[in-house]
Amino acid sequence: MKFEINNTFSEKLPADPNPDNSRRQVFESAFSYVEPTPTSDPELVHVSDEVAQLLGLSKADTNSQEFLDVFSGSKIYKDTKPYAMCYGGHQFGHWAGQLGDGRAINLMEILHNQKRWALQLKGAGPTPYSRSADGLAVLRSSIREHLCSEAMHHLGVPTTRSLSLIKSGEKVARDMMYNGNVQYEDGAIVCRVAPSFIRFGNFQIFASRNDHKNLRKLVDYTIEAFFPEINSNTPNKIISFFQAVADRTLQMIIGWQRVGFVHGVMNTDNLSILGLTIDYGPYGWLEGYDPDWTPNTTDRQNKRYRYGYQPRIALWNLMQLANAIFPLVEDAKPFEDTLNDFQEKYKLQYHNMLASKIGLQHPTVKDANLLNSLQIVLQATETDMTIFFRNLAEFQKHTNIDDEGAFLEVVKKSFYVPEEVKEKVLASWKDWFVKYQHRLNEEKWSDAERKAAMNQINPKYVLRNYMAQLAIEAAEKGDNAIVQELYKLLKKPYDEQPKSEKWFAKRPEWARHKVGCSMLSCSS
Ligand code: AMP
Ligand code: MG
Repeated sequence: MKFEINNTFSEKLPADPNPDNSRRQVFESAFSYVEPTPTSDPELVHVSDEVAQLLGLSKADTNSQEFLDVFSGSKIYKDTKPYAMCYGGHQFGHWAGQLGDGRAINLMEILHNQKRWALQLKGAGPTPYSRSADGLAVLRSSIREHLCSEAMHHLGVPTTRSLSLIKSGEKVARDMMYNGNVQYEDGAIVCRVAPSFIRFGNFQIFASRNDHKNLRKLVDYTIEAFFPEINSNTPNKIISFFQAVADRTLQMIIGWQRVGFVHGVMNTDNLSILGLTIDYGPYGWLEGYDPDWTPNTTDRQNKRYRYGYQPRIALWNLMQLANAIFPLVEDAKPFEDTLNDFQEKYKLQYHNMLASKIGLQHPTVKDANLLNSLQIVLQATETDMTIFFRNLAEFQKHTNIDDEGAFLEVVKKSFYVPEEVKEKVLASWKDWFVKYQHRLNEEKWSDAERKAAMNQINPKYVLRNYMAQLAIEAAEKGDNAIVQELYKLLKKPYDEQPKSEKWFAKRPEWARHKVGCSMLSCSS
């Protein structure tokens, strides 16, 4: 196993001078050196062959003892010095002060095929930022992170990747629902991979301490390393940087809304400066289309991070980032303009994205009514988002809408309670299909062309919460077959995979209120 090491974050930014792994406030430093805790009996559960390839690792490499040692945190790769990053954040709308990598340890940055990758272990033991927690992660949440990172990538949504999933061999105590019921679970370690793991909170922590010198260093470093399109000599480069972050964040959110992904904990420490989906915790996928849904039980009261709110939370988070870097610019106007722009762009891009989900070739503003009424009728009875949009592609322009209910034939598999689709609900659907058919007849696309286009953006397979749960329950018994099966399935989420048709199904009734399926907490 040979890497071309090329550390920049730890080379160019100030290190915490204190070498102790003791929990503390860390000032005027971007990170603290800290070593992972060796594990007693690591066992490889799964490797993403694609991520391995990105990093230049062969099959022999990923099967080696060295791989297991390095990516379980038991051995430090030669000539590297692992570290944890210092960052702060707003949690659920409130400034929380210093947070930092409490259970993440950056191993190294490498170059491969001219691309930069940072490799980071999650769950490899405590760091100076662990506060009162143990620095560990359990198999359950690690499977969810590993599978979902890769699934999101293949759905075309920007995300951190996951190289490996390794059981540590240790037992970890968790009170899953915070109700005093502590259980011992298998510990696990995931190796996350991204160009960088810098978050909004890395800027906020310096700003909150009036440490403008290091704030500037971090901004300069980030622009130079990750925003090569920005000329680092221009006076308004910080505004260009902020605009670029806003644009990347926008693309990520549009992606989430398109595939029905709910992040669950959009705190500012969980927003990547590169616009990557990061920190897979109590996330979930919409089953019934419901803008008010969140899988995170910790957020059950306010539902701050519910599906329909994700765009405005992204805006709120960008506002916090603007506040953090404002001292380097001292002119509010360009920040306000960028935030206003974000809202305008979001409206337009969301409109176009939704229009493309129903197969409109040339959407116009006039389609607002059709799209708004769709969002209303989708909530008239519980309707599975993924199945609905996928099957809508089967609709034929010449369907006879007057034929009783025939227009529903293509989408009826998406209804959770088909008996409810009568009278008023049926009438609303009929109204909608009349409008839809009329609109389709204005377009040039044939049914087949429209279907082909729709099937490229409406996934057939997503990582439904119950699917992850089945993989977890088997893996907890030592059977990793479902982890492997889902990993493979979700590599091609837009393809028909006839042998895997069983995963193109509504959530089974047993999963409706089950912990892990519809209820998840931050404790993992
Ligand atoms: P999260 O909401 O999971 O992104 O975590 C918020 C903060 O808590 C971050 O600083 C994490 O590093 C830290 N944290 C979460 N879980 C643990 C843990 N088991 N041990 C140490 N720190 C943790
Ligand atoms: Mg986090």
